Amino acid sequence: MSADILAKLNLRHVINASGTMTGLGASIVGQQSIQSIAGILGNFVEIDDLQRRASKTIADLTGAECGFITASCSAGITLSIAALMTGNDLGAIERLPNHVGPKSDVIMQMGHMINYGAPVDQAVRLSGATVVPIGQATSASAFHLASAINENTLAALYVVSHHTVEYGQIPFKTFAAVAHEHNVPVIVDAASEYDLTGFIRDGADIVLYSGHKFLGGPTSGIVAGRKDIVRNIYLQNRGIGRGMKVGKEGIAGAIAALEAWKTRDHAAIRAREKRALDLWHATLNGRPGVSVRIMPDPTHNPLDRLRIDIDSMAAHITAWDLVDRLAKGAQPIVARDHEVEHGYFFLDPCNLQPDQEQIVAARLAEELDIAQKSNDLIATPFEERTLNKERAILNWPD
Ligand SMILES: *Cc1c(COP(=O)(O)O)cnc(C)c1O
Repeated sequence: MSADILAKLNLRHVINASGTMTGLGASIVGQQSIQSIAGILGNFVEIDDLQRRASKTIADLTGAECGFITASCSAGITLSIAALMTGNDLGAIERLPNHVGPKSDVIMQMGHMINYGAPVDQAVRLSGATVVPIGQATSASAFHLASAINENTLAALYVVSHHTVEYGQIPFKTFAAVAHEHNVPVIVDAASEYDLTGFIRDGADIVLYSGHKFLGGPTSGIVAGRKDIVRNIYLQNRGIGRGMKVGKEGIAGAIAALEAWKTRDHAAIRAREKRALDLWHATLNGRPGVSVRIMPDPTHNPLDRLRIDIDSMAAHITAWDLVDRLAKGAQPIVARDHEVEHGYFFLDPCNLQPDQEQIVAARLAEELDIAQKSNDLIATPFEERTLNKERAILNWPD
């Protein structure tokens, strides 16, 4: 029983209304992956053959020429850039991150320089390459890209994420077209995107996904793209890729997750998510100081979330204090709070277990009732909350 392992390790049973978060164990791994992982763990395998099998599955799902599984999407970024520097020179692969090749500049839009738990530009720099930002945070155009390309340009990296600046960025097709006019390969970080075919179709040379996000696989990264480049990325396992090793269980589990994706009943999942959103909407709508609306995913994944705006004066509590109260107790509920200083947060239904939406609704109602009856405004200064979180991580494991 999966609940037993939590008790044994003295861990709380988290309800994830946040999304696929590394800090919460990413996602619930699907049964097909669990079976593949359990099946392969007790065997020796020839890893190159297992990866050859992964390549077939990846090609089938993405339309790319080939691919393989690595430790994470973040590892995929580092290894892709490394491969473009080294080519198939085994000596150069061992020398990295020193003595990088004649070309080592990786162009990125300023508005794409995000943090997904670590800085994306660091994943590039880890290979020995240099990031060349173009444009400004909220304004990048084709001319910025064209003008930045020179004899040192190695690659252009495009990030697809709700974390990027949501306007003023170069559309992907234009980005790819301009890079290709100058013979610059295009790498796409699509870690969290449901669309497995669109970026390859629209001009990506390499596209990278997380295996442990929407796919519901084990912790892993999926590299897909042009065979000549993927080969050289695979070779990085003999160099800096060693520290980003994926085991047989990760590869087999990711293959199973990709195959399960093909037959997943997406309509039924969407309907279940809608029932949770409707319940939360009905529970919260009309409460003093609370306004709710269902919002589409900012990067157009087929997924809606509930946005909850809190007028703290009327609700007697700030949005972040409400979020923090939900996360307390024996069964913490983790909400999606990246933008909570603006007075709103989201509930994401995509990682709920059966019937957890009821618990979420009841806990929200309970905390809002307590606040409503309180004569004081429950308002931790936001700065203090941020500093407390930093202090807590600096004190780990205490
Ligand atoms: C999650 C995420 C990553 C990192 O993915 P991992 O597989 O966890 O390394 C990279 N880029 C974006 C946009 C992400 O959302």
